[in-house]
Amino acid sequence: MSAKAEQKAQPGRGLDTDVQFLKGVGPKLALMLNKLGVRTVGDMLFTMPRRYEDRREIPPISFLRPGQYASVRGELVDVFTKSLRGGRVLLKASIQDETGRIALVWFNQPWVAKQLEKVKGEVIAFGMVKEGDRMMEMHAPEWEALGEDDDPDDFARLVPVYGLSEGVQQWVVRKAARSAVEYYASYVEDPLPEALRRTEKLPSLSKSLAQIHVPDDTDKRDKARERLVFEEFLYLQLMLQMRRMANVQEVGISFPISKVGGGDGVVGASLFWEQAKRPIADDLKEMFPFELTGAQKRVIKEIFADMERAAPMNRLVQGDVGSGKTAVAAAAMLACVRCGYQAALMAPTEILAEQHYFTIHQMFDKLGIETRLLVGKQTSAQKRKAVEAARSGQAQICIGTHALIQEGVEFARLGLAIIDEQHRFGLLQREALRSKAIANADVLVMTATPIPRSIALTLYGELDSSVIDGLPPGRKPIKTHWKRPNERKSVYDAVRGLIREGRQAYFVCPFISESDKMQTQAAEDLHYRLTKEVFPEFKVGLLHGQLKSSEKEETMNAFRRGEIDVLVSTVVIEVGVDVPNASVMVVEDANRFGLSQLHQLRGRVGRGEHQAFCVLVADATNDDAAQRLQVMVQTSDGFRIAEEDLKIRGEGELSGSKQQGSKLNFKYADLVADYHVLIRAREAAIRVLSSDPNLAEKENRAMLERVRTQWPEDLPILVS
Ligand code: ADP
Ligand code: MG
Repeated sequence: MSAKAEQKAQPGRGLDTDVQFLKGVGPKLALMLNKLGVRTVGDMLFTMPRRYEDRREIPPISFLRPGQYASVRGELVDVFTKSLRGGRVLLKASIQDETGRIALVWFNQPWVAKQLEKVKGEVIAFGMVKEGDRMMEMHAPEWEALGEDDDPDDFARLVPVYGLSEGVQQWVVRKAARSAVEYYASYVEDPLPEALRRTEKLPSLSKSLAQIHVPDDTDKRDKARERLVFEEFLYLQLMLQMRRMANVQEVGISFPISKVGGGDGVVGASLFWEQAKRPIADDLKEMFPFELTGAQKRVIKEIFADMERAAPMNRLVQGDVGSGKTAVAAAAMLACVRCGYQAALMAPTEILAEQHYFTIHQMFDKLGIETRLLVGKQTSAQKRKAVEAARSGQAQICIGTHALIQEGVEFARLGLAIIDEQHRFGLLQREALRSKAIANADVLVMTATPIPRSIALTLYGELDSSVIDGLPPGRKPIKTHWKRPNERKSVYDAVRGLIREGRQAYFVCPFISESDKMQTQAAEDLHYRLTKEVFPEFKVGLLHGQLKSSEKEETMNAFRRGEIDVLVSTVVIEVGVDVPNASVMVVEDANRFGLSQLHQLRGRVGRGEHQAFCVLVADATNDDAAQRLQVMVQTSDGFRIAEEDLKIRGEGELSGSKQQGSKLNFKYADLVADYHVLIRAREAAIRVLSSDPNLAEKENRAMLERVRTQWPEDLPILVS
């Protein structure tokens, strides 16, 4: 910024100055800016361009080739409109330079014609070049007329292009942004301490904003953007790290795991001490029908170490589908119970809660530990009993759904809360279960959807994390095939072959609409077709969301017992269901599913000793769908799938934003592209906090302010 500009800036008028007072804006244009949510100078400065047009390069029209994005500049020579069939209106405007002509084309945009009428002279347009009838075309390009009062400099530069809404013109936003930069940017205070900026080699906020709106070149602009991204990540990481540090300072339960069965008989004030007659390791050996994998043992060790520490455990266990998270949860519950506390496991669906109850109570019965189930569909007498057992402490382990966090459910000594399939729950539910426990009890959350590291570091950044990286031995990789709908018959034949060998099959039909009813209909249709036409010789069961819980349970149990050969289902089986003899899964209209969902579904097979198959039946309706199906065929590595998913869909959708709150709503950052900046911001946050845990020092206060405004409820006070 020039010295002259700095002089012109008016101290005393800050970023909250109304945009109408910006030079060159005024009340009329301000109304347009208001439509974009830009009310103050600060709003303008912090509105990012959507992209940039490189107007340093405006190729001669005759150089343009189809498929290329380009800027063109020329005289407007011809405008005509034509009515097409179906009431559509075609508008074509030709522009010409010394080398040739190109047609700018719009459909059904009469107001563009009106705007073009006013043009005298040159037009500049940007868009994708396409082959046309007689000349190249650009469809619905961004364009503007080169007016008399336009700064010709504007056209030999990198020009920002802002997101617009109806009735707002690009040049208005550009003008306001330039003016805001010229008169105000140098007055923007930088919340980042200079030392930090220097270490990170980042430009000041003033300089960055100037480069964002009026870039000198792409390098400076990129650096400016990087700074904003870094800052955005930094606040989030500061918040997460502060929470994490606060947690370490809390005093919770110190489970004396290694003392159990040690013979000295001193184990806290255990109510259940009589049962703790031998070391936990011995119990662990007895309770599982299999040898734990190395990965399971390692994660259990990490959990036990947390549990022994006084600080409350706050750990995330990630493990791909089928990696055996249930066993890890069971080990933690065993340790908890042996130390005299109760443990609770909350699952997102009744089917899953029951399945957990089924496997877990078998394990614990052997050890004389009492397990109870609490789910919504139980009779009120059953519920009352379960609730009573939880309250009295008689139920040492409680397994259930949301029913566990209902009012009226209390625990005598809940020391460990486990949340399975965490991604299905919100933070509130995690907190709700925790609030039923002893103050500062241990919390373990498990998620089967492998999440990309970048998401893990943001969404779950305050948790410690363990990864079960490896599947139980003897699992053969699932063979995945992508078949077109016209190959169905061969798919059915293959399934028939497997069932004759004694296996079972899942058929999943797609999520076709939000409505339960429509989904049910689709499942019923498929069930009918398979029963009557395809597999009349087999028993075909049906599972969908509109069935009563008892019906679902009956069907699921029959499938588990092998009395049903083929189970037709909507996505209700997506999560956690475990039937090792089911070795083939056919997903109908697989293009309608997201990648993680397909991966979850596929994880229902390949849980036993038999070779498993997953058949995705689909037409590739678009590129994304084809890409997803290809990824499924290529890999069964959940982490790779999660990364791919993030790339294809973007973080908003992946995080299930509705339940995760606003933590992933980044204004500048892109979790995939800016991963390396995220890592730096995280390290910087840890560094800053290690010398100033409460951000109390003068140079850090501005950062604290930002973090506080952004997450007023989440910020702890640390004892230093
Ligand atoms: P997920 O991690 O998807 O929740 P589960 O806990 O349901 O996986 O385990 C998947 C299957 O693997 C279950 O049938 C379980 O009994 C089995 N399993 C778990 N751990 C082992 C192991 N160490 N060895 C053999 N089978 C195991
Ligand atoms: Mg599971």
